[in-house]
Amino acid sequence: MVNYKDLGLVNTREMFAKAIKGGYAIPAFNFNNMEQLQAIVKASAETKSPVIIQVSKGARNYANATLLRYLAEGAVAYAKELGWEKPQIVLHLDHGDSFETCKSCIDSGFSSVMIDGSALPYEENIALTKRVVEYAHQFDVTVEAELGVLAGVEDEVASEESHYTKPEEVIDFATRTGCDSLAISIGTSHGAYKFKPEQCTRDPKTGRLVPPPLAFDVLDAVMEKLPGFPIVLHGSSSVPQEYVDMINKYGGKLPDAVGIPEEQLRKAAKSAVCKINIDSDSRLAFTAAVRKVLFEKPAEFDPRKYCGPARDLMEELYKHKIINVLGSDGKA
Ligand SMILES: [Zn+2]
Repeated sequence: MVNYKDLGLVNTREMFAKAIKGGYAIPAFNFNNMEQLQAIVKASAETKSPVIIQVSKGARNYANATLLRYLAEGAVAYAKELGWEKPQIVLHLDHGDSFETCKSCIDSGFSSVMIDGSALPYEENIALTKRVVEYAHQFDVTVEAELGVLAGVEDEVASEESHYTKPEEVIDFATRTGCDSLAISIGTSHGAYKFKPEQCTRDPKTGRLVPPPLAFDVLDAVMEKLPGFPIVLHGSSSVPQEYVDMINKYGGKLPDAVGIPEEQLRKAAKSAVCKINIDSDSRLAFTAAVRKVLFEKPAEFDPRKYCGPARDLMEELYKHKIINVLGSDGKA
């Protein structure tokens, strides 16, 4: 049993309360490897932004759960080395699929977990979430739950159809489960293809897809039912077209990849939305940078020569999100 407090990590409670009051959102960046984590820590330390570093079940399978946990512990030490005296870093499980997965994370030093029972019938989602909350709260670990279904694909989480969160359910759900934050579905989506072309319009000038707007009326209704309660948005990458263009230019094939426009996320960040998940954008940045190097220098075979530029591009992306989209800079 390892308690996250001994690792220098923090839970989300105070962080979210401050974010809601201050009208900004905390970035939740996924990581699978060292380069991603280096870029996240550097961007957060240099902008003094609180940050949630999160791992999915897929990341745990890919990188090994033990190694990931030690990477997170190293992240705190690295942040201090970069001059961030009291790093505000949360280690979070993304899309926990069972009580056992959540327990194993809590027991190994996570400060926050998500239990995703959104695919279950309502009462089963409540029962599972409540069980995780009861276990987690003994160790002061915070719990994110989900109501409503997002479309798209993220590791093992996949759904064809989205169902908006029903505002009439949120009071009952939050009260009976005791969860600390709630992920809702208002039209965001997992992956780099968030919308089908037929859901979008096309900009006549650029020929690019313009996605449908988020359902802010659903968000408003949820906030009215649960004033001041921390709300989470998943699937909130913007799919920057400069990265998509780079990937396509250097041998990739990502036609019509489209994300959530940043001005909509900026608007959400000012509300009770206090955690915004961004994963695909850093995957795109990584891939774009690697493709460019390998295309321009076909003789290159030292991974540091293409993972290094990938890391730099991700760091630039994370800083941009922190400063220009979420507004969390200078808050830690
Ligand atoms: Zn998600």
